[in-house]
Parts: sequence; structure tokens; C-alpha cells
Amino acid sequence: MKIVINGIHANLRFSAAHMIPKHDSCGCIHGHSYIVDVVVEGERSGKFGFVADFKEVKGIVREICSVMDHKVLIPLKNQFISFKSTEESVEFDIDGKEYKLPADDCYLLDLKSTSAEDLAEYFTEKVFQKLKDHGAKISSVEVCVNEGIGQGAFFTKSE
Ligand SMILES: [Zn+2]
Repeated sequence: MKIVINGIHANLRFSAAHMIPKHDSCGCIHGHSYIVDVVVEGERSGKFGFVADFKEVKGIVREICSVMDHKVLIPLKNQFISFKSTEESVEFDIDGKEYKLPADDCYLLDLKSTSAEDLAEYFTEKVFQKLKDHGAKISSVEVCVNEGIGQGAFFTKSE
């Protein structure tokens, strides 16, 4: 059985800025009001016969959303970004464009990109692992990270 959480109605949202290096329009810093949808599949189990507790799933997703909220998302493994520092300020260069941002304004991710696709994979891995750690009998987690309303990327992790 599957449970579904619709991020816009369940308030699983965050606002953040990012850039997609070398992309014509998305290469400049810009922002999105992200909405995160989640589908969890698994066996019904436990005292209440839940696939997973909605409250628990929302809590896990909100925690991830809250650390990214109002930050500039920086992908540490991007091949086009040359970092000079990630300490008090995050300093880097993309094709001669120099950036220096206060570390407090940034959220550094161990990812190649902060595209909707990469963020969907990131969320899925985290949600899957946390639900497993909490003992839920789940077989798959699917997360859609929407860049506003109308476009998003799905990633599914199954056992
Ligand atoms: Zn974007």
C-alpha cells in the first residue's frame, strides 16, 4: 500500500536560491518556492496498521526543508565551480564569475548540482534512510521536488 503527502497542502515547502552553472538562463542566481511531495510504499504494520505515520514522514521532510529555507544552495561537487573557501564566507568562481557569500546565507550540499533532479534524489535518500532507521516496513520512497507549481522532478528509491 502507498501513502501520499501533497506538499502544497501539507505545507512541505521551502524557499531557496541556486544556480545551474553554464546554463543560459539558470546560470545566474535565482530562487524558487519549492514544494515537496512524498509517496511511501510498504507493508501496513504496527499497532495502527500504518504504512508510515504521516506525522513522522512530514517531520522528516520538514527538517530537510528547514535547513535549506532562505539559503543559497551550493553544490560542492559541481565540476564547473572552483571553491576558494567554504569557511566564514563561501568563495567560488564559475567561468570567471566571482562569488563571495556569507557562510550563514549558504547551505552546502555534497551534490553535483542543485537541480530539481538532484534535490529529489537527495530528499529521497534521506527520507528512505530515516524511515528505515525508525523501523518502518517500507519498500520504496518517491519524492517530487517541485520548483514552484507546475514543474518538478521525481526520484524513487526501492529496496
Ligand atoms: Zn532554478
